[in-house]
Amino acid sequence: MDLSLVEKAATLLIKSRYAVALTGAGISTESGIPDFRSPGGIWERYDPSVFYYQRFLAEPAFVWKTIIEMGNDTGFSLFTAEPNKGHEALATLEDMGILKSVITQNIDNLHQKAGSRRVIEFHGNMLYVKCIKCARKYTYEEVLDRLDMDNLPPRCECGGVLKPDAVFFGEAIPQMAMTEAFSEANMCDLMLVVGTSAQVEPAASLPSMAKGQRSMLSGMADLFFPKEKAYVIEINKESTSLTDVVSDFLIKGAAGEVLSRIVERIKELKGI
Ligand code: NAD
Repeated sequence: MDLSLVEKAATLLIKSRYAVALTGAGISTESGIPDFRSPGGIWERYDPSVFYYQRFLAEPAFVWKTIIEMGNDTGFSLFTAEPNKGHEALATLEDMGILKSVITQNIDNLHQKAGSRRVIEFHGNMLYVKCIKCARKYTYEEVLDRLDMDNLPPRCECGGVLKPDAVFFGEAIPQMAMTEAFSEANMCDLMLVVGTSAQVEPAASLPSMAKGQRSMLSGMADLFFPKEKAYVIEINKESTSLTDVVSDFLIKGAAGEVLSRIVERIKELKGI
């Protein structure tokens, strides 16, 4: 890890007026949940087409069977995973008044478990299940308890099919999360981009929005309210399509290590 970049990030965070974080699957790999695209990631074990919304609508029983199989895969479980140093560091930055929100693409609830209070879940939360007919929500555990493997998919009391409340490919992003995330990207003067390959839109465009680069997503608003350019600091094990194009710099390393070093340095600089 380049300590001079840790120093730079700590100094910029202290000076920032409105810092936010955008996180992806990489922040949770140190909690034992594989990401999608790294070696050993989920796409090496499961067919991505299972997570297309149209496939769910066409074959809900098959998709549920695969999801239950994933949950039983002892190699990783969303339900027993615990937050790691990376999630904890972001919660500490919020407690310090530096970080205003975490926009996460993750569906694992680990930011909330670590104590982050303002979490914008861009892709939903796998710990909940929602009826596609009446929108009633249940906890995943509740549904698992009364699950009949010979009678999939599970159904709502209204008779509608239940679907995990994570956003599938081709499914709309929850409107509230989208509005809040765009507003945070527009408002921030610093964005930490942690553990995301930035390949999934529209989340992948949030760092460009933070940089004030006009996009289809920001619509007309930035014509009237020109955006102050934010610093974009990437923390990732590898470089991504944002590196050297959108981000000001990349701190290469494991998210837990890098973020906890940044928090330590901020505490030293602030004398706390
Ligand atoms: P991705 O799999 O496309 O990319 C993960 C990124 O994290 C890569 O750039 C990789 O280099 C980096 N990375 C891996 N381990 C790291 C570590 N310890 N420290 C720092 N960087 C690390 O994931 P993505 O960009 O989030 O996008 C894909 C989608 O994956 C998201 O929509 C998300 O919903 C879904 N997803 C979520 C979870 C979860 O909730 N934990 C797990 C898998 C996939």
